[in-house]
Amino acid sequence: MYDIEKIRADFPILGREVYGRPLVYLDNGATTQKPRQVVDALVNEYYSVNANVHRGVHFLSQQATQLHEASRETVRRFLNARSTAEIVFTRGTTESINLVASCFGEAVLKLGDEVIVSEMEHHSNIVPWQLLEQRRGIRLRVIPITDAGELRLDEYARLFTDRTRLVSVTHVSNVLGTVNPVREITAMAHAHGVPVLIDGAQSAPHLAVDVQDIGCDFFAFSGHKVYGPTGIGVLYGREEWLDRLPPYMGGGEMIRSVSFEKTTFNDLPFKFEAGTPDYVASTGLARALDYVTALGMDAIRAHEQELTRYATERLRSIPGMRLIGEAPCKDAVISFLVGDIHPLDMGTLLDRLGIAVRTGHHCAEPLMRRMGVEGTVRASFGLYNTREEVDVLVAGIDRVRKMF
Ligand code: PMP
Repeated sequence: MYDIEKIRADFPILGREVYGRPLVYLDNGATTQKPRQVVDALVNEYYSVNANVHRGVHFLSQQATQLHEASRETVRRFLNARSTAEIVFTRGTTESINLVASCFGEAVLKLGDEVIVSEMEHHSNIVPWQLLEQRRGIRLRVIPITDAGELRLDEYARLFTDRTRLVSVTHVSNVLGTVNPVREITAMAHAHGVPVLIDGAQSAPHLAVDVQDIGCDFFAFSGHKVYGPTGIGVLYGREEWLDRLPPYMGGGEMIRSVSFEKTTFNDLPFKFEAGTPDYVASTGLARALDYVTALGMDAIRAHEQELTRYATERLRSIPGMRLIGEAPCKDAVISFLVGDIHPLDMGTLLDRLGIAVRTGHHCAEPLMRRMGVEGTVRASFGLYNTREEVDVLVAGIDRVRKMF
């Protein structure tokens, strides 16, 4: 039983007002709000456990280490990875992708090699590869999309050459909401012997992810988008790949022994975790994953799908409404424009009504260009949003429309 009122009571911020109106928070694609279970865990760890991990013989350090490593196991279970050796803690999706770009770049990529991305990528899955174009002379190949916002798999199949070394695509578009067929995408790449990285920033919060089922080689997501703290994220990497790749940053934690003659590196996943990790945030992330797991990812998805369906239907009834992204398989993201109202004006006026939406290019400028728009207004839903909030959004948009 999905008890929305009980769920909302776990998120104190949802009870606040902005400009004297109840907050309607529809910017979950950017970041999600945090339940008490997460914030309490952070406070509790700072107040009663805090000590640096992996190095102390003393009681607190051992307890903090146990918590941190238990969190890694929670993440492993959440993704259904084979082993905790495959779970690297990072600062977020951006760092996870940069880690792969940097280490895979160093180990594998040579002048003239090719990396396939798609037209609907977030800048964080474009720019790290462009840096490699400059630094290592690789080439980016781009999967085009349809007008509805789906990947052109026929074109994707044609992009493979004997120089293709990696495919890096998003699971769910942060602008269009399209859920990409990542299993099929991965299988097609593997048929060419090419590994696959999946940007899971927008999927991990909304659907059950199983990295073994997808078959991908790398999977990245951010804690803050899945009701966890900021500053922590995850890179899942198949053990064979993580073993093959050189370290990312050098420092403490990632070494076995250091001398000026020869330094050896630590086991997985510590090889990729130089310096003191955010061991408090990892606890917060684990509590967030516990939270969504207890609700059930399938129940969350069903709730959000229903909300997205309802919102899409109601939004369509607004004169001048243009939805950007109409793939049949969509997640809890709706991008739109109304008449010739500038997205920034729409966002600003909705804000005065207490409605938080995102406006602009959503860190996906190439996608904006493809869709022939400068920017959009984006409403993105989380597990705590309601039909009543959708009604407030629709009424708000209609009010703004009548002002113009
Ligand atoms: N990829 C996608 C699809 C995203 O939506 C985002 C966040 N907007 C990112 C990557 C980057 O995530 P972060 O800023 O948490 O590193």
